[in-house]
Amino acid sequence: MVYNIFMFDFILSIINEFRSYFVPEKIIYEVTGECKKCGKCCNYMYSVDTYTEKEFKIMQFLFPKYRRFYIKGKDENGNLIFACKLVTPEGLCSDYENRPQMCKNYPAKKLYFPGKLHEGCGYNVKIKTFKDYLDKDKK
Ligand code: SF4
Ligand code: SF4
Repeated sequence: MVYNIFMFDFILSIINEFRSYFVPEKIIYEVTGECKKCGKCCNYMYSVDTYTEKEFKIMQFLFPKYRRFYIKGKDENGNLIFACKLVTPEGLCSDYENRPQMCKNYPAKKLYFPGKLHEGCGYNVKIKTFKDYLDKDKK
């Protein structure tokens, strides 16, 4: 019985990971500014497809790129907060050349789930409106 539940979670994790690559990209941001290398985003992050400790263990088992992360705690709503083991006390990446694609893309310009930047982050994000696209075509 326990084995069956584990297998169900296991398969569900694979499906969710797979789906996360194909969800429609609903929101497009315009990103300006630059990184101030404060390290906040490496020390406090959310996942859009991992909601429980068990799911996280399965994801780490399936995808080695997740092994650099650990669960730091939960926010006031019970959402898991993750952090990276490879950020230095100065807020720099100690594995910069091999950092995962998600780190290279941060802050992502296309997101299905709206997010927000850390306070004091050097980047600014602005949601592109339909008018922005029309104005761009006029230039
Ligand atoms: S929070 Fe912003 S400024 Fe700080 S390290 Fe991350 S991207 Fe750079
Ligand atoms: S791999 Fe580097 S850039 Fe990515 S979260 Fe860890 S310390 Fe930050």
